[in-house]
Amino acid sequence: MFEPRNEIREMVGYHSPQVDVAVRLNTNESPFPPPQQWVDSLSEIARSVSWNRYPDRAATQLREVIAQRHGVDPENVFVANGSNEVLQTILLTYGGHGRKVATFEPTYQMYGQIARVTGADVLVGSRRDDFTLDADEIARVAGAEEVAVTFLANPNNPTGVIEPRENLEVLLRTTQGIVVVDEAYAEFADWSAIGMVQESERLIVTRTFSKTLSLAALRVGYAIGPRWMIEKLSIAVLPYHLDAFKQAATVAALSYVDEMQQRVDAITSERTRIEHRLQAVGMTVWPSGANFVLFRPQKQSTPSLWQQLLDKGILVRDCGSWPRLERCLRVTVGTEAENSLFLDAVDDLVGL
Ligand SMILES: *Cc1c(COP(=O)(O)O)cnc(C)c1O
Repeated sequence: MFEPRNEIREMVGYHSPQVDVAVRLNTNESPFPPPQQWVDSLSEIARSVSWNRYPDRAATQLREVIAQRHGVDPENVFVANGSNEVLQTILLTYGGHGRKVATFEPTYQMYGQIARVTGADVLVGSRRDDFTLDADEIARVAGAEEVAVTFLANPNNPTGVIEPRENLEVLLRTTQGIVVVDEAYAEFADWSAIGMVQESERLIVTRTFSKTLSLAALRVGYAIGPRWMIEKLSIAVLPYHLDAFKQAATVAALSYVDEMQQRVDAITSERTRIEHRLQAVGMTVWPSGANFVLFRPQKQSTPSLWQQLLDKGILVRDCGSWPRLERCLRVTVGTEAENSLFLDAVDDLVGL
């Protein structure tokens, strides 16, 4: 047996247990499949691929349509296999051995995980008890010497909390390094940092097709950033990392964004219903700007609410073992029927 690198040996890896149940509300996917017309077009798209040739390494057409969507130039766009690969590429380029990466917990676990896998040291800042972020804490952590990359998720996962624009401004003023704003749930929030991206700013914003756009299975994410930053990312990423079929299928998917966007309204109103019903049975609920809700049952009310829900065929995310999230559960907004099953089950289990 040969030992892996120290960083890897000490890690447990990313786990999101999948159980085969009727109601899956644990990974923040869209509950709706993508438009059927797009699905029907895939066989035609597959036939048009020159399968014996390497794909367009620069993903020219795909970057053009993404650039159009956001009113930027294709040179401002980097695309990869899910936004996780975008984050990894940013860290391979600007993090790595001997460099520091800053996060504010609780937040998306992959920031720390990918930073460590790619050899960087992780500085962990803390959010307040209500999971908002204090400007002094931002300055203290990200302003520390030699912080190369700082992550901010807006809205944040797993808390759902929206980050005020002023906090990003403080961060940009106080850090010497790169700032990554992860907008995996931006479609549900009331503001985006994409408008703040400019050549003179060390800001890059990431997006994904996995959540609002109903395409988690396709694995596509992207970043919008200044040219000088985007240019370097394509040096760190593997050549031909985006296959030809994916490029074409994603271009086609972007002609359905309006349809996919319409679902955001449905999800947002269901989110409000979930928040109110959970509050009504005494849960602590954090106001969410995303497609999920973080909540905490009262002490001792149900020590194993997660398991009891699972026994009823409903899978939510158990965040109880994450730092600062004792007893917390996170439920993804599903279809109206799924949400009702979840809410009725909660009523049964903890109903007052
Ligand atoms: C889901 C999620 C991602 C990962 O998205 P992929 O594009 O599927 O890799 C990135 N960031 C946050 C905050 C997420 O919740």
